[in-house]
Amino acid sequence: IKKIGVLTSGGDSPGMNAAIRSVVRTCAYHDIECIGIYRGYQGMIEGDFKEMGPRSVNNIVNKGGTILKSARSKDFMTVEGRKKAHENLVAAGVDALVVIGGDGSFTGAEVFNNEFGYPVMGIPGTIDNDIFGTSHTLGFDTALNTVVDCIDKIRDTASSHNRLFLVEVMGRDAGHIALNAGIGAGAEEILIPEEDLGLDRLLESLRRSKASGKSSSIVVIAEGDKIGKNVFELKDYIEENLPEYDIRVSVLGHMQRGGSPSCFDRVLASRLGVKAVESILEGKSNFMVGILNDKIALTPLEQAIKGHSEIDRELLRVSDIMTI
Ligand code: ATP
Repeated sequence: IKKIGVLTSGGDSPGMNAAIRSVVRTCAYHDIECIGIYRGYQGMIEGDFKEMGPRSVNNIVNKGGTILKSARSKDFMTVEGRKKAHENLVAAGVDALVVIGGDGSFTGAEVFNNEFGYPVMGIPGTIDNDIFGTSHTLGFDTALNTVVDCIDKIRDTASSHNRLFLVEVMGRDAGHIALNAGIGAGAEEILIPEEDLGLDRLLESLRRSKASGKSSSIVVIAEGDKIGKNVFELKDYIEENLPEYDIRVSVLGHMQRGGSPSCFDRVLASRLGVKAVESILEGKSNFMVGILNDKIALTPLEQAIKGHSEIDRELLRVSDIMTI
């Protein structure tokens, strides 16, 4: 292996830049070349490559987003597209690929590996934390801090006006952000897709909360929650059943994906980047580099894609107890 390519794909997340920096510098440390591929798989198809030396990644460890840009590529879903991408890599002398992204990006990497026997290594970058084989994905910790910060601010208004706030957070089909940030921000109830508590239980809990003398409440709702109502319909439903509540909705949206990465995400990105490059140099391929019990761990890409990242039941219990 003389040259490694690195790209970011799918949704961006804080910590991707720190991971790019780590990959680039680990290559330099081992005296091999590194090529940055712009706009994910689309840039691979279009040959949008740039040589990256250790100084090309100065001052990005603290930056959100991704300097390599990200994209979703329809062309890469086709055999012709992937063939073109492979030709470009071979022509540029790139021997292996580090893909920083989510499960869709890993699926693309796996398909590419199966088709051409091309060495690939994945680094999980998504705020949703919905990938099997790692306790944390890059950006998750930062997103949690952002969400907690927002809810703290919302709480000021909630308690000044004796209001109930329904706060919708990201996470796609997973409730990791909602559950963790909900506990961290002291939410009254947390609605996540993995655990359908039902509307009755929510009403009962809010009734109890009012009766116990609480003047304001925060309910955190994961965007993928399966309660069967969106957050605005839920507001109407609660108002109909509990008219004593003055309710407001806040959908936090894309601010959760941006911002300077937390120290945790920067350290994690640095560790994952080193391991990704060194694993390639050891001849490994088709793995995702993750973190389990604070140790760096390799999981076959296939498992990372197909496996389910379970919600921590202990956190559910803690959340329950906290809302007594
Ligand atoms: P996020 O979790 O933020 O959505 P992601 O990596 O899951 O990130 P996707 O949009 O699902 O994002 O996938 C990124 C890209 O990976 C796609 O645009 C496509 O180019 C490629 N990809 C996904 N699935 C496949 C597949 N089955 N075959 C080939 N390429 C794929």
